[in-house]
Amino acid sequence: MVHVAVALVNGLTPGESRGRAVTPPGDLAVTATETLRSAYPGHREVAAEEARELVEIAGRLRVVFEAVARDDMDTAALQVNAVLHDTRARPMLERHDGEPWHLHFHGPGGTMAGDWGASCATALAVVLGGEFADRLGVCTAPHCDRVYVDVSRNGTRRFCSTACQNRVKTAAFRARGRVG
Ligand SMILES: [Zn+2]
Repeated sequence: MVHVAVALVNGLTPGESRGRAVTPPGDLAVTATETLRSAYPGHREVAAEEARELVEIAGRLRVVFEAVARDDMDTAALQVNAVLHDTRARPMLERHDGEPWHLHFHGPGGTMAGDWGASCATALAVVLGGEFADRLGVCTAPHCDRVYVDVSRNGTRRFCSTACQNRVKTAAFRARGRVG
């Protein structure tokens, strides 16, 4: 579920992505649907009101990544707790639609966006409470503030994507060329 949190933050919060400004989407519902489907294929279409709520959730999740990136674990933990609280997150095994028993992290009667908020906050809580708490991050490339979760073996990831990694490499190569 951490990858859903990453997708929501990167798809639905303003800022910069890979050197380009992230502009508000023309059709928020379409963008929200695409964002969720990028992490959870087959997700149903998102309505306009749900999309607005998802944007708010994404903004609250972004705070967690930004706090971890500057080693402010207190802010990260308090923010996760606030989202857990507001979305009434709690684990419960459920079985429906012919699926086997599986774990849900939200109570009945919640909104779709609130339910994703509960699931994402729970996932971030597991990360923050474990030995890989510092694996959440914000891209360090110029003109990019997209977030990532570092699942590499040595935990040295610094960029949101290979695109940003290559941008920085190319810039460093050019800089060396000028000096030499
Ligand atoms: Zn980036």
